Amino acid sequence: MSVAENLQKVKSNLPEKVTLVAVSKTKPNEMIEECYNVGHLDFGENKVQDLTKKYEELPKDIRWHFIGHLQTNKVKYIAPFIYLMHGIDSWKLLMTIEKEGTKNNRVINCLLQVKIAKEDSKFGLSTDEVREILNSDEIQTLKHVNVMGLMGMGTRTNDESETAAEFQSLKSLFDELKEAHKLTILSMGMSGDYPLAVENGSNMVRVGSTIFGPRIF
Ligand SMILES: *Cc1c(COP(=O)(O)O)cnc(C)c1O
Repeated sequence: MSVAENLQKVKSNLPEKVTLVAVSKTKPNEMIEECYNVGHLDFGENKVQDLTKKYEELPKDIRWHFIGHLQTNKVKYIAPFIYLMHGIDSWKLLMTIEKEGTKNNRVINCLLQVKIAKEDSKFGLSTDEVREILNSDEIQTLKHVNVMGLMGMGTRTNDESETAAEFQSLKSLFDELKEAHKLTILSMGMSGDYPLAVENGSNMVRVGSTIFGPRIF
């Protein structure tokens, strides 16, 4: 099957209200163009250098999602064009995004990353830290940051019930906070677990290898 056919297949399995971010990291422009040519606009990258290169080379109406761990000193490279930053996990990053948003005269859309997996390697805020940030007075003063929702990654495990429980915990945090803080996006689910994530309330999935094939590096 072609990349475009894989994309259509994933899309056809998703409810209409779920946004599909095609994770194109490490993949060539030609594959992205294949999806773009059948009308797909949302793509995810996790390396700033790759993202800026692809942004320069590809159509300007693509909506670029940054899904990786973002270093503060690199925010400036993607601030002019980024559509949504998924992995925000510190005040320091929020302040940097505010600064770069101000410079670029734009409001930058963000998701707070919540640590739901037990694995130590996963970045993210605790549920209490998320509450603290959203309920703080400081967040109101950031006029160039728009926190639109939450993002999380489940544990990679064959035990579906463990991953389901993690997704449910993030969904309930989202439900707790969504009205007061106008949160609309819950980003969870990857190739291995996106149907389970959608079942548990995700409305944005980040799917790479199922569309583009396995990554070699
Ligand atoms: C790579 C990546 C994905 C996509 O992974 P696949 O398993 O290839 O679908 C999703 N989210 C994040 C944060 C990633 O880094």
